[in-house]
Amino acid sequence: MNILRTAHRRGLTAALSIVALGVALLFVSSHDGDNTSTDAFFVEEMFAQPVASCIIPAADDGSFALNGTKLPVGGLTFKVNQNTFPAGLNPLEVHASIAGSFLTWDSATSKVLFTHGGTTNAIPGSSDGISTIAFKKIKGSAVAVTTGWFNRKTKLLTEFDVALNTNYSWATNLLASGDCGGAAGRFDIGNVMTHEAGHATGLSDLTPTASNAQTMFAYVAYGELTKRTPGAGDLKGLAALYDGGQSSGQQSATSTSDFSNRAQ
Ligand SMILES: [Zn+2]
Repeated sequence: MNILRTAHRRGLTAALSIVALGVALLFVSSHDGDNTSTDAFFVEEMFAQPVASCIIPAADDGSFALNGTKLPVGGLTFKVNQNTFPAGLNPLEVHASIAGSFLTWDSATSKVLFTHGGTTNAIPGSSDGISTIAFKKIKGSAVAVTTGWFNRKTKLLTEFDVALNTNYSWATNLLASGDCGGAAGRFDIGNVMTHEAGHATGLSDLTPTASNAQTMFAYVAYGELTKRTPGAGDLKGLAALYDGGQSSGQQSATSTSDFSNRAQ
């Protein structure tokens, strides 16, 4: 666990460097030449844990679920709208939290999944060709919402957006550790973003309490840091998607059309 946490911090440091240097790496075309079939989409919403406070998760149950889509070869480039960052947070730390979340998944496979494309003024929630990460006022109680657009035939993702709800308070907790080491009364950006980025890889939510050690566990608590580090099930799911791992361990197959309306 400590090794993983250290690796994550190393990821954050790398992310800081990337942001500081303003390096926009590889841009990957998301078009496959068949735009008539790219109109399908999914919506994944994350809700606050029913219990008020952060809890130490149960033993890792190794489960995962796939949402039926995956990233194209070469992955996708995402951009961050820093104009939307919550006041009072260090923008560089917010950038590091977001970039580190994507690096966490990227470094867990042999494939390129995500490329940091710098900043954007785009707003998440509509298919505009820019995979946008931003804070946004979201109606309802969702903590964060990921929308993914994919080719109906190939099931390959063409774009994804992540919106973090400004109705809640957020923190970066860059030097914090432990499952519940984040600031009280605030959601940890890296904790939530790692979960949302997991949706873009093709992983779906897990709702049984026994799965609460997984990054893809559907509920989140204030101060929680557990989801920054993928669990055994998250990594098995990722391997099934990108590294030829067995997909037989998946917990449930979900429709790719729209699996938003998850009742709280
Ligand atoms: Zn989710």
